This record gives sequence, structure tokens and C-alpha cells, in this order.
Amino acid sequence: MESLRREAPNPSRQIPPPRLEVSGLRRAFGGRDVVADLTLTIAAGQVTCLLGPSGCGKSTTLRMIAGVEHPDGGTIRIDGQVMSDGSGRFLPPESRGVGLMFQDFALFPHLTVAQNVAFGLGGDRAARDRRVGELLERINLVGYGAKYPHELSGGEQQRVALARALAPRPRVMLMDEPFSGLDNRLRDGIRDTTLEVLKEEGTAVLLVTHEPDEALRMADEIALMRDGLIVQRGSPYNIYNAPADRAAAAFFSDIN
Ligand code: ADP
Ligand code: MG
Repeated sequence: MESLRREAPNPSRQIPPPRLEVSGLRRAFGGRDVVADLTLTIAAGQVTCLLGPSGCGKSTTLRMIAGVEHPDGGTIRIDGQVMSDGSGRFLPPESRGVGLMFQDFALFPHLTVAQNVAFGLGGDRAARDRRVGELLERINLVGYGAKYPHELSGGEQQRVALARALAPRPRVMLMDEPFSGLDNRLRDGIRDTTLEVLKEEGTAVLLVTHEPDEALRMADEIALMRDGLIVQRGSPYNIYNAPADRAAAAFFSDIN
């Protein structure tokens, strides 16, 4: 009997373990809760969009996961490993295996495209060159390796920034309004390319945006945020068609 019990199928084994797990995350500024009890999980290969109006605490959440901001409480785990918790454990950003991409993406102007992409890479020269070549192919910039950032368009620079962030194979990719500095005309194309590259790399992605159409276009799952809390989580289809309350509905009503 005992052995039978041990062999019994365990349904939870079928579910892929979460890459990123955030629970009860809190941060206050000046006595005001900016992030209040935030809980979130993301699996490898999944894109979750943290969507909400300006000032609701999205960037603060992302910065705590990145390790550049200290939480007041809650736990952050990546692949089961504690990054920070309420008891003062705190892993510095460079030890977390996260990639970062912000609106203000600034490539190093004095380095070539290839040198920018290779910047965070260790290992031997041949392995580095292989990784850079692979990424330039993914972002459709084969032949651009020797160019300098000022010779590239804004959209091309954005793709190089993505390749640079992905080069060290981050376990979690954190993106804060990565497209808001770009021309409207360019955005759809860049969003599609970015999504394609992220899917090929299979990293877990948390993308912060205040634009509903961006979240609807890019997310596997949307986490709708308001006043420091996630008020609804679901597929773009579910969130769009069955918003949790009137405020959520109003937030989507501007899209046509
Ligand atoms: P979002 O990215 O959703 O626009 P933020 O996380 O940047 O929101 O900010 C949420 C709130 O926290 C805002 O009211 C902002 O002014 C405040 N805040 C963020 N960082 C700080 C800080 N370092 N000191 C004081 N207040 C801050
Ligand atoms: Mg922000």
C-alpha cells in the first residue's frame, strides 16, 4: 500500500513550475502603500503584461523584482530561489539572472552593435560571437554588427537593446514601457518582432505598460493593476470581454 501511495499520479507534476513567483509584495513611500500585497506568477516562455494607469505602482513592482528597489515585505522567487523576503534576505540585481529593458534604452554610443550585444557576456570569444550572430539574426540585423548606434533608426536601436538584454539568457525579462519612446507608426512592427524574439528565447517576461492595446496584443496573461493591487488576472480575451468591474471596463473602453 505504502509503495502504491508513493507511485500515485500527482497532477501537480504536470504543471510547469513557475519561473517567477511574487507573493505579498509591498512597498510604501511616505506612509502611502504604492505596492500593496501584490501576488503574481509567470512561467518560462510566458509573457505577462502588468497593465494599469500611470502611478498605480507598475514601475515600483518591476524595480523590486529587478532588485534595484527594496521591498517592505513579501517574497520574490526565481526558479524557486529566494531573491528577497520579509526577513531581510536580498540578492543584488546582478545575481538574479534578470534582463532589463526600459523606455530610455540607451545603447553605448562608442560601441558597435555587436559590442553592445556582447557587452554582458562572459565566456570565450567564439561562444560570444556565436551568441551575438544568433541574436542579430533573430532581430533581423544581420550585417549590422560593425555599425554604431547613431547609424541606426530608433526601431533598429530598440531591437539591438532587446538583443543586448537577452544575450546572457536571462531567466526573467523585465520590460518597463519599452516602446513608449517610439513613433506610433513603428510600434506595431516592433511589438511583433519583440514578441517573436521573446518566444524564441523562451524566457519569462513581465512587461509593464499603461496601454491596453499593447497588453492585448502581446500578453499571454494580463495582470490588471490599480492602486498597488492586481485587480484582475486573465487572458487578453477574458479581460477584454469580462472586465472585473466598471473601472476595468472603462480602462479598455478607449480602444476601438
Ligand atoms: P507607474 O509605473 O505605474 O506609473 P510608479 O511605480 O512609478 O507607477 O509609482 C507609483 C507611485 O509611487 C507614484 O505615486 C509615485 O509618485 C510614487 N513613487 C515612486 N517611486 C517613489 C520614490 N522613490 N519616492 C517617493 N514616491 C515614489
Ligand atoms: Mg512607470
